[in-house]
Amino acid sequence: MVAAVDINVTKIEHSKLNEMSLENIPFGKYFSDHMLEADYENGEWKNVEIKPYQPLVLEPSLAALHYGQSIFEGIKAYKDANGNAFIFRPYDNFKRFNISATRMCMPNVPEEIFIEGMKQLIELDKNWIPNKKDHSLYIRPLMFATDSMLGVKPSESYKFLIMLSPTGPYYAEPMKIYVEEKYTRAAPGGVGFAKNAGNYAGSMIAAQEAKKLGYDQVLWTDAFEHKWLQEVGMMNVMFIINGVAVTPSLDEGTILHGVTRDSIITLLKEQGIKVEERRINIDELVDAYKKELLTEAFGTGTAATVAPIKEFKYKHEVMQLDTTKATVASALKKRFDDIRYSHAEDIFVWMVKA
Ligand SMILES: *Cc1c(COP(=O)(O)O)cnc(C)c1O
Repeated sequence: MVAAVDINVTKIEHSKLNEMSLENIPFGKYFSDHMLEADYENGEWKNVEIKPYQPLVLEPSLAALHYGQSIFEGIKAYKDANGNAFIFRPYDNFKRFNISATRMCMPNVPEEIFIEGMKQLIELDKNWIPNKKDHSLYIRPLMFATDSMLGVKPSESYKFLIMLSPTGPYYAEPMKIYVEEKYTRAAPGGVGFAKNAGNYAGSMIAAQEAKKLGYDQVLWTDAFEHKWLQEVGMMNVMFIINGVAVTPSLDEGTILHGVTRDSIITLLKEQGIKVEERRINIDELVDAYKKELLTEAFGTGTAATVAPIKEFKYKHEVMQLDTTKATVASALKKRFDDIRYSHAEDIFVWMVKA
C-alpha cells in the first residue's frame, strides 16, 4: 500500500470545456481545468494541491532558469467504452522520472504524489479525455529547481507539477531522416538517458538544419565516430532487417529508455518477430539497404506511437523505403491502439485505472 497523502483540492467554477471542442486539437496547446502542484522544501514534499490551471509567480533568479535543473515526463490517458479513464503504463514513467531526478541531483517524487496525485487529477478532469479515435489526454509531469540564488549547486527547493493537455490525432506522415554527423545528442557518462530540459534545447539546432535541407528529423549517431545509431529526434528507432527487428541497446546511457520502445518490443515478440537489442552502425544499415534486406524503419514514442520512416540521407547515400509495404509497423500500431483504446484485452497489464 502506498501511504495516503492529503491533497488539497480547489475546483474551478466554470469549466473551460463549455467554450471549446476536443476534436482535432493540436498537440500541447490547450490545458485542462486543473493542475497538480507540490513543493519540496527542507527535505520534504509539502503543499500538495490540485487547483485551477494558472500561471506561476517566479523569481528572476530562479535556479532552473539559469542552470537547467528541470525534468519532465510524457504519458497518455484514454477512456474505455464505459467512460472509465485509464493511464498507459504510468509506473514506468514514474520510475524513469526519478532516474532523471537522481541524475540531475534533484529529489525523488514519492509514488503517492506522482501516481496517486495523477489519478486524482485525471478523475477530476476526466471530461477532458477526448472520446474519439486517435485522441487522448497527454499528461505532462514537470519538476524544476526553485532556489532564488545565483551560484552553481543543486537547488534546495523544487516545484513538481502535473498538467493535462487533450490531444487530437498525430498525423504521422512517413518521415525523411537526416543521419547526423556534426552535432551530438548524448555521450557515455552524459545525460542522454534522462528526460531533462537541456537535452531538447541542445538538439534543436540539428533538427533545424535538417529541416532546411528538407528532412523532418535527424538520426543521432555516437559522439566519437558518428557511426553508431542512437535515436530519431525524440523517438527511439527500430529497423526491420531480413525479418528481424533491430534496435539500439540501452546500456551506454546515451538513449532514452522509451516506454513505447519497450511496449513495441513486447508486441514484436508476441507476433513471433525476433528482436535484437544491440549496437548497430550506419554501415550495416547501408549494407542491408543495398542488399534489399532493410524493409522497414520507424520511430517509437508516446506522442506519435509508431512513426514510419520513408527515407534516410547519409553522406551521398539516399535510402528510400516503401512505407506502403510497411506491414510490420502497421500491424504493431493496430495492436497497440487496440490495447490502449480498450478494444482488445489488456493482457500485458499496461492500463492503469485512474
Ligand atoms: C520521451 C523520449 C522518447 C520516447 O519515450 P516514450 O516513453 O516512448 O515516450 C525517446 N527519445 C527521447 C529523446 C525522448 O525524450
